[in-house]
Amino acid sequence: MDDKKLLKGGVVAAAIREDVAADVATLVREGIHPRLDVVLVGEDPASKVYVASKAKTCDQLGMVSKTHILPVETPQAQLEELIDQLNGDDAVDGILVQLPLPGDLNAHRVLEMIDPAKDVDGFHTSNVGLLQQGRPHLVPCTPAGVMEMLRRENIDVKGTRAVVIGRSDIVGKPMAMLLLHAHATVTVCHSRTRDLAAVTREADILIAAVGVLGLIGPDHVQEGAVVIDVGMHRVTDRTTVERLYSGNPKKMAAFEKRGAVLSGDVDFEAVAPKAGRITPVPGGVGPLTIAMLMANTVRAASLRRGEQEHK
Ligand code: NAP
Repeated sequence: MDDKKLLKGGVVAAAIREDVAADVATLVREGIHPRLDVVLVGEDPASKVYVASKAKTCDQLGMVSKTHILPVETPQAQLEELIDQLNGDDAVDGILVQLPLPGDLNAHRVLEMIDPAKDVDGFHTSNVGLLQQGRPHLVPCTPAGVMEMLRRENIDVKGTRAVVIGRSDIVGKPMAMLLLHAHATVTVCHSRTRDLAAVTREADILIAAVGVLGLIGPDHVQEGAVVIDVGMHRVTDRTTVERLYSGNPKKMAAFEKRGAVLSGDVDFEAVAPKAGRITPVPGGVGPLTIAMLMANTVRAASLRRGEQEHK
C-alpha cells in the first residue's frame, strides 16, 4: 500500500506534544505549573494502564500530575468530596475521572460536579453546550484529536460530506458537532440506520466510532474517501485475525508473537486500496487522544488565569 495514504496519528500526536511542551515551558517561565489530577476508582487493569500513561506523558511534557487511587468500594459521597476538594484547589488545572466507574457509582453526577474550567475531558454539560453553540471551551479529546489531525494533514473539511458512524457523547456526537462547525455537511449514523453502506458511501470523510470490529468494508466507502477509524479492539481469535489480515505478513507475524493484534472498526486491508487517506490501527487515532488531553490541560491552565492561549 502507498505509504502516503496513511494518516499517521502517531506522528501528528508527536507534533502536538511538542507544541504542548513549548506552551508548558512558557507557562512555567511565568510561574504557572499546569497540573492534571486523575481519579481512578478500583483496580480495572485497562484503566490502570491508561492512567499510568497519562501521568507519564504529563511528566515528559514538563507538567505536574497527581493520580488519586480510591478503593473499589468507595462510596459516592467520598468520591464527590474528592472532586469538591480538587475543584477548590487552585494548583489543579485539569480533573479527569477515569471511566468506567465501578459498581453503583453515578458517573454522570460525578462528571457534572467537575468545575467546567477544569473539565479536561469536555464531558460537563456546560462544555457540551458551548461546543454545540460553536463556542468551544474544552472539547472531548478523541474528536478534538481527529480535527487536529485533519488540520495538520491539510485535509479541507469545508463543504465536504462527512459521515460519522456512532452517536456516543464521548466520540460520535462531539465529532459531528466539530465537523459541522468546520462547515462539513454532516450525517450521523447509529445502530438503527437503514442501509448503512448506502449512507456511508456518500462520505468524503468517513469517521467510524462504532465499537464493532471490522464492520466497515469496501462497500461502505466511496473511492478516494478519507477514512478515520476510531475503533479499538484487541483481537485474540486466530480465525478472525486470519480473516482480517491473511494478506499482511507483518500483522500475522505480530499475532504469532504476541497472541493478539490491535484492530479497528474498519477492515483496513480491504478498505485501504479504495480510500484516499486512511488511519491505521494502532498508530492512528489512539495516540491523538492523550496528546489532546495534554493540550486541554494546558489550555485550561491558561484560560483559568485569563491568559491568551499560547497558540
Ligand atoms: P459506544 O458508546 O458504544 O457507541 C457506539 C455507537 O456505535 C453507538 O452510537 C451505536 O449506536 C453505534 N453502533 C453500534 N453498532 C452499530 C452498527 N452495527 N451500525 C451502526 N452503528 C452502530 O462507543 P464509543 O465510546 O463511542 O467508542 C466507539 C469505538 O471507539 C470503540 O471501539 C472504542 O473502543 C473506541 N474509542 C477509541 C478511542 C481512542 O482513543 N482511539 C477513544 C474512545 C473510544 P446506538 O447509539 O444506536 O447504540
